[in-house]
Amino acid sequence: MEKTTKRLEIMAIFQELFKQADLYDENKQPIHDKIIYLCQGKLYPDWRRKPELQMAKELAKRAIALTGPRLETVNDVFKKVGDLGTAFGILKQQIDENSTQSTLYKTERVLTVSEVYNTLVQIANYSGVVSQKKKISMLSGMLSRCEAQEAKYIGRFIDSKMRLGTADLTMIEAIARMLAKNENEQSINREIIERAYNIYPDLGTVLKTVMLEGIDAMKRFQPKLGVPIRSMLAQRLDSPEEFLPKHGGEFAAEYKLDGERVQIHTRDKKVMLFSRRQEVISKQYPDVVNSVMNYITAKSAILDGEIVAIEPGTGKLMPFQLLMRRRRKYGVDEKMEEIPTRVYLFDVLLLDGKSMLDTPYLERRACLERSVSTSQDKILPVPQKIIKSYPEFVDFFNQAIKNGTEGLLTKSTKPESVYQPGARGWLWIKLKSLQRGKLPDAIDVVIIGVNWGEGRRAGQWGTLLVAVNNEDTGSLEMLTRVSSGMDDEKAEFLFKNLKTIPTCPRNVKSTETPDKWVEPDTILEIVGDEITESPNTIIGYSIRFPRIVRIRDDKGVDDITTAAEVLSMRTGSRNETDI
Ligand code: ATP
Repeated sequence: MEKTTKRLEIMAIFQELFKQADLYDENKQPIHDKIIYLCQGKLYPDWRRKPELQMAKELAKRAIALTGPRLETVNDVFKKVGDLGTAFGILKQQIDENSTQSTLYKTERVLTVSEVYNTLVQIANYSGVVSQKKKISMLSGMLSRCEAQEAKYIGRFIDSKMRLGTADLTMIEAIARMLAKNENEQSINREIIERAYNIYPDLGTVLKTVMLEGIDAMKRFQPKLGVPIRSMLAQRLDSPEEFLPKHGGEFAAEYKLDGERVQIHTRDKKVMLFSRRQEVISKQYPDVVNSVMNYITAKSAILDGEIVAIEPGTGKLMPFQLLMRRRRKYGVDEKMEEIPTRVYLFDVLLLDGKSMLDTPYLERRACLERSVSTSQDKILPVPQKIIKSYPEFVDFFNQAIKNGTEGLLTKSTKPESVYQPGARGWLWIKLKSLQRGKLPDAIDVVIIGVNWGEGRRAGQWGTLLVAVNNEDTGSLEMLTRVSSGMDDEKAEFLFKNLKTIPTCPRNVKSTETPDKWVEPDTILEIVGDEITESPNTIIGYSIRFPRIVRIRDDKGVDDITTAAEVLSMRTGSRNETDI
């Protein structure tokens, strides 16, 4: 799997793997879930809030030293190669070459997937200084029984560098194919599994359930408190005239707020907040938790909304950049007073135990309005208007912009206007103000490299090399260099948070070599004036006058703009974007 970045090839490997008959442990339980977690490089989905594997490199080095080599040798190898995985592989190879043990002994010491996974979980569960010894001895016990190749991947897992490039959707496709007799069945399966995964974003559990109970069990997945549902996303239309015909002559328009998406889970005054990436963010927003406790009248609910920063005193809506300062681990209370927030709710996905996903939009909206107490301004249904004519649309858009929003989100009011978890369909279509750039939309890119700055930015990163996702090749491909729009706050954040790495990662393609490559996990929203042809980039196109709008720490590399989307903007770009 590591030798390719091609989606189709990775999928074929998974399909073959999942098909094998012996993927069951001694209790006849499927181990498919464990395989998935190990490939993803995590022990559980983030939202489960179970202890993650945090093992300092020094402890890991001591663990391998316990299996034979001297600690100095371990340190030397590590210094040379720079990462635990490669170092473990090399050291284990050396141990095996020097060892006189027979092949028979080697086959007896075979490690199973379950053992590896369970041991890693046990290590994760140990915390505190006292348990350091236990962590080391568990890891060394496992390492003493593995082959060089196995040690390499265990090392990578501990180092959080699995990077097999396996997107969840690729694995879903592999499962769908594995269970299908023909193409028709394949696409039916994919839809069924994707639906379950969008409601219960834990691919391990989903696959285990399929293996135990069959594909029909997928249909029983329903929204559940404490399990974040994948957010519904919006399509984009460039010209405002297209909205009414596209929605069939009528739609609901809502303010498009410039904040952070939040999914609120609440029951009996207990509250949990999830981000768009299904991380738990309750601790960052104690004020939001309070508002939910005090002003949500439903006994239990899952609500979808946006947290927005407001100006203290006036209550005016403030831009996202300000809210980003609330995203911190320490000093939360201080910042809470400095940057107060308000929540605008725009959907309800579960109400008093009943799933609302298949309820049409207007009915959901009515339920939402009934679930919030009035006469307060901390948590409110988003301003909304039913639009039946173009002038009404223009008026409401201009009003939204005047009130400090990004534009409008238009939503279908037809009977089929259900909530589609995880989908970017035409039931929701956005219209942005776009005063910031001339392209029809902002582009989300991942930072792949950095160059040292000069002058004011000396000693920090000046120019950033950024990439989009080419879904055909499975690579992150360089799109442009960008430096304008970098203010002090962003420069500081990037200098502190970007992780430099010694070489260009396997899945990154770039025509330029930056001063430093970085771990491709930080997302920037950029705007520009035009998509132009360019022989100097991998995708063949670049952006004229790119400017950084903001750092999107609410997005991951799976959410960035694709090369195909960039191309579509090229044909769709126009000069006048305001209405
Ligand atoms: P996307 O979320 O579509 O990938 P994005 O994060 O760049 O892209 P946009 O495409 O600009 O955001 O718009 C969608 C986002 O707008 C939602 O994820 C949500 O956070 C935000 N939003 C603001 N107001 C609303 C609203 N009334 N209804 C739905 N989403 C809204």
